[in-house]
Amino acid sequence: MLYGAIEAGGTKMVVAVVEDTGEIKEKLTIPTTTPEETMPQIIDFLKDKAVKAVGVGSFGPVDVVEDSPTYGCIMNTPKLAWKNFDLVGALKDGLGLPVGLDTDVNAACLGEMTYGCAKGVKNVVYITIGTGIGAGIAVDGKLLHGMMHPEAGHIIIPKRLADRGQSVCPYHDSCFEGLASGPSIEARWGKKAYELVDNQVVWELESEYIAKGLMNMILTLSPQKIILGGGVMHQTQLFPLIREKVTELLNHYYDTRELADMDNYIVPASLNDNQGILGAAVLAMNV
Ligand code: ADP
Ligand code: ZN
Repeated sequence: MLYGAIEAGGTKMVVAVVEDTGEIKEKLTIPTTTPEETMPQIIDFLKDKAVKAVGVGSFGPVDVVEDSPTYGCIMNTPKLAWKNFDLVGALKDGLGLPVGLDTDVNAACLGEMTYGCAKGVKNVVYITIGTGIGAGIAVDGKLLHGMMHPEAGHIIIPKRLADRGQSVCPYHDSCFEGLASGPSIEARWGKKAYELVDNQVVWELESEYIAKGLMNMILTLSPQKIILGGGVMHQTQLFPLIREKVTELLNHYYDTRELADMDNYIVPASLNDNQGILGAAVLAMNV
């Protein structure tokens, strides 16, 4: 059985046809410009592919509350052309198929839980550290929505006193995304993140902020596994630093089986950056 999957990002849209085994049959990447330009390309690509349903993992904030009058619409976004755009409605109208929706990060979390390193794990946090920071959260096997959806990239993190960088978040002076996203690294050090590979000070500070973010999520959500994806996490030297700092911060406040095995507790995304699109396909399967 084939399903349509869309990873809707602020800069690009990835559209794919996915087999229920998790095999990606075909994939297309198009730039996110305006709904008038981008949506017809998505619909054209999917319309003759004999897919049974479509799933979308979307940038946010997006209304994922099914009984809300604005369900399926993009909400307040700096991408003004997309503000209040009815993404689910446009896909339903254009394709005449059922459409499943969640956030991009919840989709990635679901992808890892279905096909990746979190198979069989019911309480999972998936964090992307890229242009922004976002967290997908599963509790008891179910993706967490609540009143809307979590925006855990904006949790408050104490800034290191000696850090001369400014938060890049327009809303918060000292939030996770503002201090630790790719653009924040680049603003603080005046270079592209990949040009800073050999500068240990950069990754010490970055791992400190990430560890603090994780610490808050560990204590609040009690995940059994934390998966870190996104462009910044291609710097794999961050993993041992983050594990060490999380262990230090927790300071044996509690000791669990999972925390005793840090290498399998805080792990890289396992699906070659396809976790989002595969999760979107699972949203289609479940619709
Ligand atoms: P997006 O978040 O837009 O979907 P990415 O997850 O690729 O896309 O994140 C892009 C950000 O990640 C950029 O700010 C970039 O600086 C950073 N980034 C991308 N590749 C690397 C890398 N190899 N090392 C460190 N940072 C990277
Ligand atoms: Zn913020």
